[in-house]
Amino acid sequence: MPLVARYDIDAAKKSWSRESLVGRESTMWRYRELMPLFDGEQPVSLGEGWTPMLHAERLGRELGLPHLYVKDESPNPTNSFKARGLSAAVTRAAHLGATVLSIPTAGNAGNAMSAYAAKAGLTAKVFMPRDVKKPFIRECELYGADVTLVDGLITDAGKMAAELNARHGWYDVSTLKEPYRIEGKKTMGYEIAEQMQWTLPDWIIYPTGGGTGMVGMWKAFDEMSALGWIDPKKRPHMVTVQAANCAPIVRAFDEGTEKARPWEGATTIADGLRVPRAIGDFLVLRAVRESGGAAVAVNDADMVPGMKDLGRFEGISAAPEGGAALHALRVLQQQGRITAKDRVVVFNTGGALKYLDVLEPGLKSGPTQAARRPGL
Ligand SMILES: *Cc1c(COP(=O)(O)O)cnc(C)c1O
Repeated sequence: MPLVARYDIDAAKKSWSRESLVGRESTMWRYRELMPLFDGEQPVSLGEGWTPMLHAERLGRELGLPHLYVKDESPNPTNSFKARGLSAAVTRAAHLGATVLSIPTAGNAGNAMSAYAAKAGLTAKVFMPRDVKKPFIRECELYGADVTLVDGLITDAGKMAAELNARHGWYDVSTLKEPYRIEGKKTMGYEIAEQMQWTLPDWIIYPTGGGTGMVGMWKAFDEMSALGWIDPKKRPHMVTVQAANCAPIVRAFDEGTEKARPWEGATTIADGLRVPRAIGDFLVLRAVRESGGAAVAVNDADMVPGMKDLGRFEGISAAPEGGAALHALRVLQQQGRITAKDRVVVFNTGGALKYLDVLEPGLKSGPTQAARRPGL
């Protein structure tokens, strides 16, 4: 069972107001009253969070969606929103006295953990699939982490890490095995509310791997409802986006099951979505269903045009995961579920730079072929 952090919200409600946020630091720690920090403690921070909420006017015009926004997570430290979760997790680990941190990762989480471990002066052990893109490996090493390449997927890396953690007493920073990564990622929910003047959008479209972000944002909406900061009846429809060749949560959503069966033979250019089994799957499914949301699987060949559209219309450096989210928006528009009156937030969860190989001209499933598609 995943661990979840709980706070005394009634106490917070009495002493903490939305208005008090004005002028606070431009990081996710501006919400520290409901973050895992005790009074007097300092976070391990590299300036994560409080990322831009961009009104995508040109892309919105092209799509006929005047209220289209992109929550751009690419400016985070180490270029993805994994910085949020790992800033919170490493902060807590450091205060608890851990010295060696260990993580199985599809790429970005390892980069983020390595950077925060370096900042805190802790040792980082990173376990990643052998075929992960080179920039992810080199960046962990840049921050001084010990990298172990594992045959197989993130789940296999997780098995190896778990064995070594047990043997050596290393601190396990896997998603949902400790409760703090959710606490970091929930700040995306707080930021959306604050940046949209406390009226949440109609739709949030989010590329989902382990699901920490979905679960975190849904928790943030619960907390903000309890604080009286948002209208509990106006919560967004949550859309989970996965890769067509690794879509366990989309399949479970379609089949109406409470949990997701593991996906066999997972492959996708979106490394962050290459998660064949997520221990928080039922929490993601619950959030999508409670919100009246949707689950959409996107082909790799459609992610690249999505990246390019975010680039050429909006100047945004998008990871394939962000490209997937944009494509999912189009699918929901074609189905008539999202229309011109809707306020929509699409998540770009990371930057393009570590994935530049997918933009090389002439790749089979890549841009040359996909860019010739008619229309946008
Ligand atoms: C990890 C990752 C995701 C998936 O995030 P979860 O919150 O674990 O579902 C999406 N995009 C990128 C770029 C990632 O690194």
